[in-house]
Amino acid sequence: MNTNSFPDPNGMVSFWRTAPQNLDNFRSTEQLPTESDIIVIGGGYSAAALVTHILEKYPKAPSILVLEARQLCSGASGRNGGHIKPDPYYHAGQLAEEHGLISGRELAEFEGANLDAVKEYVEREKVDCDLIITRACDVHFSSDQDKQAKSRLRKLRKAGIKVVKDASEVSGKYAETVSGVKGAKGCVTFTAGHLWPYKLIHHMFTSAVKRGVNLQTNTRVTKISVTADSQGFWSVTTDRGVIRAPKVVVAANSYTQALLPEYKDKIIPYRGISCHIATPGPSPLLVNTYALRFKDWDFDYLIPRPDGSIVVGGARSVYFRNKAEWYNNTDDSALIKGAKSYFDGYMQRHFCGWENSGAYVKEIWTGIMGYSSDKLPRLGPIPGKSGLYIMGGWTGHGMPQIFLAAKGMADMVVSNVPYHQTGLPRVFEETEARLQSTSNKVMDSWSQVAQGPRL
Ligand SMILES: Cc1cc2nc3c(=O)[nH]c(=O)nc-3n(C[C@H](O)[C@H](O)[C@H](O)COP(=O)(O)OP(=O)(O)OC[C@H]3O[C@@H](n4cnc5c(N)ncnc54)[C@H](O)[C@@H]3O)c2cc1C
Repeated sequence: MNTNSFPDPNGMVSFWRTAPQNLDNFRSTEQLPTESDIIVIGGGYSAAALVTHILEKYPKAPSILVLEARQLCSGASGRNGGHIKPDPYYHAGQLAEEHGLISGRELAEFEGANLDAVKEYVEREKVDCDLIITRACDVHFSSDQDKQAKSRLRKLRKAGIKVVKDASEVSGKYAETVSGVKGAKGCVTFTAGHLWPYKLIHHMFTSAVKRGVNLQTNTRVTKISVTADSQGFWSVTTDRGVIRAPKVVVAANSYTQALLPEYKDKIIPYRGISCHIATPGPSPLLVNTYALRFKDWDFDYLIPRPDGSIVVGGARSVYFRNKAEWYNNTDDSALIKGAKSYFDGYMQRHFCGWENSGAYVKEIWTGIMGYSSDKLPRLGPIPGKSGLYIMGGWTGHGMPQIFLAAKGMADMVVSNVPYHQTGLPRVFEETEARLQSTSNKVMDSWSQVAQGPRL
């Protein structure tokens, strides 16, 4: 098991990475520069969206160097479920209960705006990334769970939150026929999207490289200096040399703690699993994306691909109780035990009419998510470290957040715009209080499940 917190050199190949493109192992220059105005650590969606927004908004942008330890988009962004699911009620409802209605509203509206912005970008740039806009269907398997989710939804709707109007309730009576999911006791549908993440991110980097961004793949950062020097420059040590920069953005997500020890137990590497299911025989058309919510902590996410195949991830019931399998575990070189058999026969088990489809798992892979200890992303300047920025902690839900988060980050990094003027959800701001907090919701969820009955 890889416990050293750096990306594993032998990560498994995901379905999305079966056809790597020409920047996969790209280096803009043979040697690394000795200085850059901005260094971005990480070559995933966060880094791609950040450089895209910097170049779009600041055409005379300063020099930017992107350092990626492995191949381009080989972290979570190249291993996820491809699901862009702006959630108008589930997390937003939880957040409203905990942090007040304004926070719930900010989150719901931010995620809705993200999907619109990604769609606009993909259409404007004619990105070939299989983006499909459709409806997400959240399926609940007990009446209590359905009641609770819908009560959250109604509270937000009553409060006049615009994007919540898009969400539609399906009663228990029709849940199975409307969702097509066996045993559904109720569901909620709302606008969502899905795409081929690697293709989107590769496109963004292709544009960025053309406009002068220095991309260096297979270049691992081993250290960031503890303080900036007297000129305000940070030293970033890699396995190919040292670079100095006044501004460094850490977009390494689940691997942040290896470079910034204060992020230990703040952005927690969380091992997850997804697979690609091929459908050789006749099978009912699926147009929705799905969350099958068996329990609060146990849910699967699923998208239908435009070619009729399926990408589905989750399988927490198989491994969540065994903490060592996932918590603080950065090993994406091997499968999580039991996951393959969990997905064998998955469509036949859960979806009406799929019994004779012959659907089978074609590719299956492990990936590492970066779970934030308070389950909220962490964005902005790192307190007490002028010139260092954090962009991570997406808690397995970065796809409907990263694009516009990067827009706000671009303003903070290039123009020193204060966080509160960026329009980003206030609860995403990195603060001293968040960094000092000893609360750990990820551990709390695990303890409850580990100590609870095995139903
Ligand atoms: C199995 C799985 C399924 C998921 N499904 C979904 C989904 O359907 N919908 C959704 O919204 N989200 C999903 N997610 C989460 C989503 O993929 C992430 O939120 C998102 O990709 C994070 O992007 P990122 O760029 O911040 O991180 P990453 O894509 O992980 O990028 C970080 C990069 O930094 C590099 N790096 C790390 N350390 C160093 C270093 N020291 N030096 C140089 N480079 C370094 C890594 O190699 C990596 O490429 C899923 C994640 C996983 C693992």
